[in-house]
Parts: sequence; C-alpha cells; structure tokens
Amino acid sequence: HAPSDKYSIALAARRRSYGPNTSLSYEQPLMIIRGDGTYLFDEHGVSYLDCVNNVSHLGHSNTEVVAAISAQLRKLNTNSRYLHPDLPRYTEMLLATLNTTTTTTNNNNNSCNTTCSSNNSTYSNKKSSTNCTRHNSTPEGCSSNSDSNKGACGSSSCSSTKANTLQNLEVLYLVCSGSEANDLALRLISVARPGATHVAVMGGAYHGHTSALIQLSPYKFWGTGGGGRQPHVHVVPCPDPYRGENLDGRAAARAVLAAAERCGGRLGGFFCESILSCGGQVVLPPGYLKVISERPRVGRDLYDELRAARVVLVADEVQCGFGRCGEAFWGFQTQPGVAPDIVTMGKPIGNGYPLAALATTRELAAAFAAPGMEYFNTYGGSTAAVAAGLAVLCILQRDGLQQHAQRVGSYLLYGLRQLLQTHEVVGDVRGLGLFLGIEIVRDKASKRHAPATARWIKERMKARRVLISTDGPYDNVIKIKPPMVFGIREADMLLREFREVLEQELTADVRQKLRRREDELWTSVYGPRQAKYRENERQLFQGGLSPQARL
Ligand code: PMP
Repeated sequence: HAPSDKYSIALAARRRSYGPNTSLSYEQPLMIIRGDGTYLFDEHGVSYLDCVNNVSHLGHSNTEVVAAISAQLRKLNTNSRYLHPDLPRYTEMLLATLNTTTTTTNNNNNSCNTTCSSNNSTYSNKKSSTNCTRHNSTPEGCSSNSDSNKGACGSSSCSSTKANTLQNLEVLYLVCSGSEANDLALRLISVARPGATHVAVMGGAYHGHTSALIQLSPYKFWGTGGGGRQPHVHVVPCPDPYRGENLDGRAAARAVLAAAERCGGRLGGFFCESILSCGGQVVLPPGYLKVISERPRVGRDLYDELRAARVVLVADEVQCGFGRCGEAFWGFQTQPGVAPDIVTMGKPIGNGYPLAALATTRELAAAFAAPGMEYFNTYGGSTAAVAAGLAVLCILQRDGLQQHAQRVGSYLLYGLRQLLQTHEVVGDVRGLGLFLGIEIVRDKASKRHAPATARWIKERMKARRVLISTDGPYDNVIKIKPPMVFGIREADMLLREFREVLEQELTADVRQKLRRREDELWTSVYGPRQAKYRENERQLFQGGLSPQARL
C-alpha cells in the first residue's frame, strides 16, 4: 500500500509538533490505529503480528480490562486518600504473588479456576477447567490475603506452589510508571540508608527517564547523547554467558563496594533486572546473584556480599514480571534464594493503563515513613488504576497465562534454536518464557556484534508483517516479548517468516553490504561505546577507579 493522505498528514504533523527526540519505529513508520490480541492493524486494515508489546500483557484492547476501567471511571475515580475496598484487595493479592516461588514443573495445563470479584466486576472463568478442578477458588479466595503459601494462581493447594520463606515483601506503594517506582526506590534507600549515596547498576541497564534514573542507566548515559557516568554510580559489567565474560557475581559485588569506598562514598542500593532486558535479554548465569549449592562455601555471593554491607537490593521487574518468564510469576523467583528488599513493577501491570508499583519489606517501609513526610501520588492508587490492576491480575491468573508463556515460550525457544545450527548470523538464542533474545553476530567464530544485520532483519520482518525490536548496548539482540496471549499459531508464523528472511533474503550480496555497514557503525557508534564498557571493567577490577575518573 502507498502511504495514504491520512498517513502523510499525521507524519508531517508529528514531525512538526511532537518532541523531536522521541522515536518512531522502522525506516517507514507504521500508522497503527487498532489492536486486537497479539495483532496490530494499520490504516488500511493490514494486520501485523506484534512480538514487541510487553505492556498489552493480556492482548491489545482486552475487552474485560476495558470494561473494568470504564465501569470504574463511570462510577468514581479519585485518589488514595479515601478508603476503598478494592485498594487493599488488590495490594494483598499482588503481594501474595511475591512471597511465593512458583514453578510450572508439576503444573496443570490450565490455570486455576479462579473467580475474582472487585467492587465493580466479576471476572469468572468462562473456560471449562479440565485439569484444575481442585482449585476452584471462591471470590474471597481471589481477593486474597497475604497467605505466603499461595501460588500465583491464588490457590493454597496448587501443586505448583512452593513456599519461599526468604520473602517478606509485605508493603506496596502504587505509582504511575516504572520510572516512578524506581525513583521511589531511590527515595526509600536515601531515607533508610542515610549517607549511603552511591548506587550500583548493571551494564546496559535502563531504569527510567527521570533525572536521577538516567544517571542509573548506562543504556542512556553511555548511549548516544549520554553525558557519561556520575561519580556516585558504579557499573557492574554485564555478564555475557555467550562470550563467557563477567560471570562472577561475587567478584562484581566486591569490586563495586570497593569502588564506592575508593571514591569516598558508601553503596546504598543495587538495582538489577531479573533478566537484563535493555542489556540484551541476558539470563543471569545460575548462582550469579545467589550461590546456593557451593560446598564448601567460599565466602559470600553477590546478594550476601551487598546485603552484609547494608546495601538495599532492588529487583526491577518492570519488563520481565507478571508471569512473562513462564517458570515463575516474577523474574527473581527463577533464581533460587534471591530475595530482594524492593521489587519495582510496571508496564504489564495495567495492560496499558498507567499504573506501576513498588513492593518492599515492612522494615524499609517503616524507615521511609519514620521522618513523618507524607507520600502522596495524585494518580498512583487511584480507583480506576486499581480497577485496571485488579482486572489484569485476575484475568492473568484465571487464564493461566504464566503457564501459557512457559509452554509457548519453550516451543519458540526450541524452534529458534534450530536456526543456530544453520545460520551464521544467529549467534545465540536465549531467554525464559515469552521473553526471548536472538543475538545477531557477524559470524559464529568472531561473535562480533552485528547491529546493521539485526536492524535489517527487523525491517524485513516488518515487510512480512511481523513486528520485532532490537536492543542491547550494541543493538544487535532481537527481542521477542509479545502480549502473553501469543499462541503456537503465532509462534509458527514468527518462526516461518524469520527462517525465510534468513534463507531467502539474506543473500551473499546482502551480507556483503551489511558487513560494510557494520564496519561503519562500529567505528562511529558501537566501538567507542564498547571502549567505555571495557575501560569501566578495567578500572573496576584493577582498582584504578579514582574519584576523578569519569567515563
Ligand atoms: N525499568 C525498566 C527495566 C524498563 O524497561 C523501563 C521502561 N522501558 C523502566 C524501568 C521505566 O518505565 P516507564 O517507561 O514506565 O517509566
């Protein structure tokens, strides 16, 4: 289709009147006017398979979520300074998912058959529950208490549930975005650990768009237009299991503690995503955060090491939470023994309605409250936001989407891994559940990052009506993180089109052109960026980081 007038007008107006450093995806941006499930539709009605949107968790335009929010908006939408039964109903239900570890190992194919009532709506399971009849929950069962033996399904008898006694995340704050949640985490840390103003983050991480969080985001401060690292921020070199680099979490913990000290500071917080998303869909190596089976124990691991120094441990679950990882409801629960002090969440939590949250321990919440300053957030915890959150959580659990992500994700991972053997540019395929990454390289021997090829694949997939994105510090990792209603049919479509792009379109000629482009990009953008990461690593581990050293 040639661009319509409507398209050209919208593009021109957007360029004229919207912030110039906001981005549009694709060389020829798409005009998307409708969404349904895991598909998006342009102005001509052409459908695109959406493998990008990890916010529309239950699918685009989910009618039940829309109905729940609309009903609440018609009745009341006010802030959290009034008592409303849905707020504690929601917070307790959400907290219950954090204080358990769930695996799908023994789980049934279907979800627990949960009926969940909010003040406005009832989300009942309309599907017949074939395998999980034991878990019929009452409405009260779903508006759960914080029973720490309950699984994400909300049922205390679910065979997939195992209690994790390490967790005690008992207090929730509701905010409006992932950035607000992480910014609030910083505030908690500054009050609970006065004077410990230094913060450690992972290489390649992004934690949000506020002034404070850009400083905690190497993705931005070492990215294009970034202003460099601030002296109070210490960057843990991102583990790269594919290349066998930086796999020792304990050494990293010691290095950042020492670096803060050398700079005359003290580390107050450590922010880490449970799967490093902007870092390039990196699954942390087993035991990286928490060694659980070392015999004899040789000192402490990263989490122990930092906790012993009273560093507050923050798990940023904004991208990977809410069942996306499949084997557990939260990303950190996929790593045995990992017990963060703060968990921040956002994106999928409201299926697109602006809602986010921070969960923490009673002790940290008390410390934050101790000075007596009120925490207020106009829209955070508003009645409509709570209605959105409650609907999402109930439907997610009722429809067993975590287990679905595990099933479809494993299928997709298997299919993608077949391509490793036959395609030189597919260097690595990794991830959990419906949170996958395909690392595109120049060739298997060199493992050199190939951002131009990754971008080219993204464009070719779009031409075939499949939307994927690229990410990572070198922008060479194709990310797959679709709405959770993505099924086997969609997985087959993605696999087919991806294979055909590699087999039919990536000819020797195209590869040669792309190689030239790779060289240009490496010289102008990615080489200098890698030099910063390498220099940081050198300074951190060789003790060369001086108070003046700035990258
Ligand atoms: N943390 C992570 C890991 C994120 O990916 C993002 C957003 N991409 C944020 C925090 C910030 O969330 P928001 O854009 O909702 O402020």
